[in-house]
Amino acid sequence: MKLTDSIQYVKGVGPKKKAELNRLGIRTVYDLLTWFPRTYEDQSVLTKISALKPGERETVAGVIMNVTERQAGKRGMTILTALIGDGTGFLQVTWFNQKFLKKKLVTGKRVFVTGKAEYAYGGRGQFAMSQLSGFQILDDEEEPEEMCGILPVYPATEKLNQKFFRKIMQGLWQEEFELPEVIPQGIRERFHLLARREAFYKIHFPASFEELKAARNRLAFEELYLIQCGLMVLKKQSREKKKGIRHLLNSELVRKLMDSLPFTLTDDQSKVWQEICRDMESPIPMRRLVQGDVGSGKTVVAMLSLVKTVENGYQGALMAPTEILASQHYEGFCRQLEPLGVRVGFLSGRLTKKKREAMYAAIETHEIDIVIGTHALIQEGVHFAKLGLVVTDEQHRFGIAQRAELEKKGSLMPDVLVMTATPIPRTMTLTVYGDLDVSLIRQLPPGRQPIRTFVRQPDRRELIYRYVLSQIQAGRQAYVVCPLIEMNEESPLPSAEEIYDELRYGIFREVPVGLVHGRMKPAEKEQVMQDFYDDKIKLLVSTTVIEVGVNVPNASIMVIENAERFGLAQLHQLRGRIGRGQYQSFCILVSEMKSENAKERLSIMAETTDGFKLAEEDLKLRGPGQFFGSMQHGLPDLKIADVLKDMDILLLARKAAMETMENQEDVRFVLPILALQYQQQFLNITDT
Ligand code: ADP
Ligand code: MG
Repeated sequence: MKLTDSIQYVKGVGPKKKAELNRLGIRTVYDLLTWFPRTYEDQSVLTKISALKPGERETVAGVIMNVTERQAGKRGMTILTALIGDGTGFLQVTWFNQKFLKKKLVTGKRVFVTGKAEYAYGGRGQFAMSQLSGFQILDDEEEPEEMCGILPVYPATEKLNQKFFRKIMQGLWQEEFELPEVIPQGIRERFHLLARREAFYKIHFPASFEELKAARNRLAFEELYLIQCGLMVLKKQSREKKKGIRHLLNSELVRKLMDSLPFTLTDDQSKVWQEICRDMESPIPMRRLVQGDVGSGKTVVAMLSLVKTVENGYQGALMAPTEILASQHYEGFCRQLEPLGVRVGFLSGRLTKKKREAMYAAIETHEIDIVIGTHALIQEGVHFAKLGLVVTDEQHRFGIAQRAELEKKGSLMPDVLVMTATPIPRTMTLTVYGDLDVSLIRQLPPGRQPIRTFVRQPDRRELIYRYVLSQIQAGRQAYVVCPLIEMNEESPLPSAEEIYDELRYGIFREVPVGLVHGRMKPAEKEQVMQDFYDDKIKLLVSTTVIEVGVNVPNASIMVIENAERFGLAQLHQLRGRIGRGQYQSFCILVSEMKSENAKERLSIMAETTDGFKLAEEDLKLRGPGQFFGSMQHGLPDLKIADVLKDMDILLLARKAAMETMENQEDVRFVLPILALQYQQQFLNITDT
């Protein structure tokens, strides 16, 4: 059998089970092998009933002596109780509402049960077992000792239960199947890793917890190691494929721009700018990620870099994720750069065909020095005369495939600068952004008043909106953010549309109110955003579409409805839309806070404005899947490693991957494995 074979060839899998397994995403032998246990049940020790200790989790083997059934409660809950005996005493085992079990609980059958032992209520010292985590009725030929050990507990379903999974896993290992090694032998020895086959066996059927640990360690290492190798190969390829551009030291044009800025750079900005200069002046193509919290001033760093490439006779491109963001950048760049004689162009999918083609021509003949735009920048018709630098703003919306597309547009390899406001913890940076050098802007420009954040119950909404109105009357603008677009029968939450109506016909009837959400046509959306930007709309009701980069310094207040529905990182992004001007800004999170988790998350929001801290908290509270889900990230699908908890393994895997890259033989060994197993994943990773 091969790993790619269909699971229908595994013993015990008929057409029905096959369909059920497919529904879980298990199609091949490999999928089944990597259906890792969710946890393990320690049944390695059988305890005699007379030796049970109250409060402990224990495993008992015995015989069913009798079974009773009774009804309880208004709704007639069925309670089944079996009395189990093992010659040393008796134990009550109780099930609630599992009527179907009655047929199976036959007096005289032998059972095997794991749970928490307690004294039975009114049982005069007799034991009862609750919180059952294991229960099996033994067939006549099965011996309880065979059941002992550390049992895998799989993510199971109603139709595919534990017993089924355990059985087919056992069956699988009785057959011959290929399980080729994917880590070079030298690396395996140096990092003390189990062989692959052994690890796969032991993760399902460990004889001890030490074995389990070694198996898990090996498999997590494998996962992270191959990703790291993939990232390093990509990095190497993009460096070797073409020659990079060696920019010269900064000269007059850069100096002029620096002098004309209305402020001096913060220390962090200066440091990042120096790092960028060093990269650009080297012949190796720059691959740098600038991480800076919202409002930390990344744009000016991008502008300096783009002017540097222009000064060297090249063209620069700045790519933004939305039309509105691109046009804001365009305006800002024109204002700052036209006096210096730099020719700035704008390109978007919304230009008329004629204008677009004129822009294509201007780019091709080098009549434009810096072009700013959306995804339209990477479309077929665009040919740069001499592309020197590509900057992507809020990069997490662009995938590796798109960036590669841009890189194809010049004959020399252009430098690449990636800017993101999404604070990504270091563990993540290493995994996802493995091939980028990282610069940080942690400090905000001076003179900002920190945003004040409050968490309030919905019964205070009237008061909150009165306050918003008073701010608008004082000349400010405000955002109201809602999680849902339109009414939804399944959800009791008010939608953006409902809140929009409530507000514009209610408290804000004298005020221009706008609505913007993701299901509007782009042109409509742009128009509303533009009106808000131009101060024609005072109160903007929206969904998360305003999340990215929009800069309206006059907006100083934001109300977020049903705030518990958002992740911390997302709330932080949203909140970053205010506090961008000289006014004291306020963010009010409205939530019923029904769960402890919601309460905790929102109170962290009120306590800190540090995006990095929030991102880490978010990761801890919601796990990486959720965290990246909300960011539309293509994180490689980790089946066993945990990027937060396995930092140590990650660092070792990274070291191993570096060693691998130094050894031609190992590279030759790993390359086909990457191509086969991981290529698809890599194309999905953003920002590599
Ligand atoms: P972001 O990092 O979120 O893209 P921006 O580049 O839009 O932030 O900068 C936010 C605001 O801060 C802009 O109005 C910008 O002019 C201003 N700014 C940037 N750098 C400085 C600085 N060193 N001193 C003062 N203001 C600055
Ligand atoms: Mg920005």
